[in-house]
Amino acid sequence: MASAQTRVAVVGGGIGGLAAALALNRAGCRVTVHEQSARPCEVGVGMHLGPNGARLLHRLGLGERLRAVADRPDALQVRAWNTGATLFTQPMGRSWAARFGAPHYTVHRADLHDLLARQLPDGQLRRGRRLTGFRRTGRNGDGPVRLEFAHGRPEETDILVGADGVHSVVRRALTGPETTRFSGRGAYRGVLPAEPFDRLPPGHILVWAGERARLLCYPVRRGRLLTCVAVVPSPHPPDESWTAPGDPAALEEAFRGWHPDARRLVHALAANGPRRWALHDREPLARWGTGRITLLGDAAHPMLPHHGQGASQALEDAVALAHHLRHAPGTDPRRALRRYEALRAPHTARVLLATRDGGTERMDPRRPDTASSPVDDVSWIQSYDISEELTR
Ligand code: FAD
Repeated sequence: MASAQTRVAVVGGGIGGLAAALALNRAGCRVTVHEQSARPCEVGVGMHLGPNGARLLHRLGLGERLRAVADRPDALQVRAWNTGATLFTQPMGRSWAARFGAPHYTVHRADLHDLLARQLPDGQLRRGRRLTGFRRTGRNGDGPVRLEFAHGRPEETDILVGADGVHSVVRRALTGPETTRFSGRGAYRGVLPAEPFDRLPPGHILVWAGERARLLCYPVRRGRLLTCVAVVPSPHPPDESWTAPGDPAALEEAFRGWHPDARRLVHALAANGPRRWALHDREPLARWGTGRITLLGDAAHPMLPHHGQGASQALEDAVALAHHLRHAPGTDPRRALRRYEALRAPHTARVLLATRDGGTERMDPRRPDTASSPVDDVSWIQSYDISEELTR
């Protein structure tokens, strides 16, 4: 077991970093989370938490709290962009819970952050701590890692976990300059009050599939809000941002001639100050860490959103990292970190590559037979159980 004195600095208090802190506390480590933002998470819309991620939160004892803030969609329904005809319905809800051992949830990103942050002991999450760099100490660089922040004094740690998201400072320091791969798609996203859309079936993930664009909506905040995501072709690679303001006129234009139910959603999204989300990813990393340093979550494997796996893969990483450190002999964590990386890198690379042509992106409204494939596409991801893998 890692010594109770093993200091772990998790940089980034997103879903991955917070879940890692929770799991590492239970593994007996001395954890500090350094988050750059001074305030609790406010950015984001809804997100998916597939059964593979959800069952880990259940096992961490958070099932009841999760059910209190998240929605469990009854079905996924795919409709044709122009006629609104139903191309395909996949029951979810209880049947998915039975098939995969946990339900599929949709949840507001801020609510999941808040739920995780509340589980940490007072003072463990330190805000306003932006990491600017780090240095390995000791004769061969095998001593503690010295962390430097934009504000406040430097600090030493025995293990550095870079959970600092898609633009990770830790990853760039480890792997050098990188090129992103633009998918040729952009997404507008926002949350809308659900009430004016009472013609839509409640508790459903709805997708209108066009030949070039997709419109997705699903419930969050116990059905009071709808998350709306409009995926459109984007000829020029925009900045890789979650938060850039979107052009309402361009959004409305992309959905001209669509079914009135879809248009109504798009109109409300356009009127609501949509955010533009540029869909980039990267090739899987050849190396996630060195010495006492490793990566986790989007910092290690930023992926496209088509399978809704960002949060679930980060949760799997968190559980795997804590398991390896719990079973690490003595105080030298380096072998445990390499074992964690050797387990997680191949699986997350497979998920990352699968998202490139997966999910609703595969649906062609001219060929309804393609509409059912996304569900089977994801079943290997949803049924993967990291805890079982760790006990093999
Ligand atoms: P992230 O959620 O990106 O968390 C990384 C954390 O690290 C952030 O809190 C960030 O402030 C912090 N950080 C970054 N750099 C530093 C630094 N130098 N020092 C200290 N802290 C640092 N996914 C969806 O499915 N739907 C969404 O609507 C959605 N919205 C998002 C909005 C934003 C602004 C971001 C950053 C991500 C969003 N995601 C969304 C992605 C999703 O949150 C992740 O895929 C998933 O939760 C895995 O999270 P993570 O903890 O690895 O990374």
